[in-house]
Amino acid sequence: MLPTLRETVDFYGLMANKALGQNFLLDSNITDKIIRRSLAKQEISNFNNFNIIEVGPGPGGLTRSILQENPKSLTVVEMDSRCIKIMEDLRPETDSPMNIINGDALEFDIKENTSAPRQIISNLPYNVSVPLLIKWLQEIKNISAMTLMFQKEVAERIMAPTHCKDYGRVSVIAQLTCQIDKLMDLNPECFTPAPKIWSSVLLFRPLNNAINKEEIAKVEKITSLAFGQRRKMLRQSLKSLSGINEKLEKLGISSTCRAEELTPQQFLDLSRLF
Ligand code: SAM
Repeated sequence: MLPTLRETVDFYGLMANKALGQNFLLDSNITDKIIRRSLAKQEISNFNNFNIIEVGPGPGGLTRSILQENPKSLTVVEMDSRCIKIMEDLRPETDSPMNIINGDALEFDIKENTSAPRQIISNLPYNVSVPLLIKWLQEIKNISAMTLMFQKEVAERIMAPTHCKDYGRVSVIAQLTCQIDKLMDLNPECFTPAPKIWSSVLLFRPLNNAINKEEIAKVEKITSLAFGQRRKMLRQSLKSLSGINEKLEKLGISSTCRAEELTPQQFLDLSRLF
């Protein structure tokens, strides 16, 4: 029989390491709820058709909830070597094959190291949540769904509509590639240690459009320039791009617009002219 999560944390003396963005979920009611809401939204009853990748399992609360849903396999990628033994203790408790990687998720090649169909699930380390999201969105064709926890203000940026102050580069890339649904908000007391801010869990499901990695890279470049000077008109913020005024005109976009007025599709259309 498995010890409780608190017993596990005490046994291994797992003090949270701030540099690794560690805020642990030690209440199985909460981790079970995250997984149940994700399954319900996807209209599936468990994970038995999916190879799951969990980034940053930590002491394993979310990991236990994932394993209850019988994934085809589970790959955990964890930077903190203190958590690897905890993962090894879970292995005999499950019928799902577990692959335990002690490494940096930013360096982890999911296509090379796991099989499709895949889903990514993570209570993300907040210090690398956006770089990880962008990395996965660039290869979203290889991923069936992602259930990810962010700081609430980051989740709001991801879901922000045009004309909103939170709308920016990450909103454009995420909304161009995925349908995004908020599954729940979590108050700081759900975590150990409690952070200062609320968190939100989002479900990302790839849209059926054919945006490739190169196109996403171009959109990233244009949105970085445009939102880097978000108060400026596009003719100013994008002036380093050759023929920008003609290209905007071709698309019927006024060069006096500001970045937050362009929809994700308009950013894609513009990037396709370069
Ligand atoms: N999943 C656990 C939970 O919900 O209690 C822990 C979540 S904690 C917010 C983030 C986890 O990601 C930590 O265990 C941390 O060590 C790990 N981590 C931080 N940076 C990482 C990286 N670059 N690659 C893989 N894991 C990382």
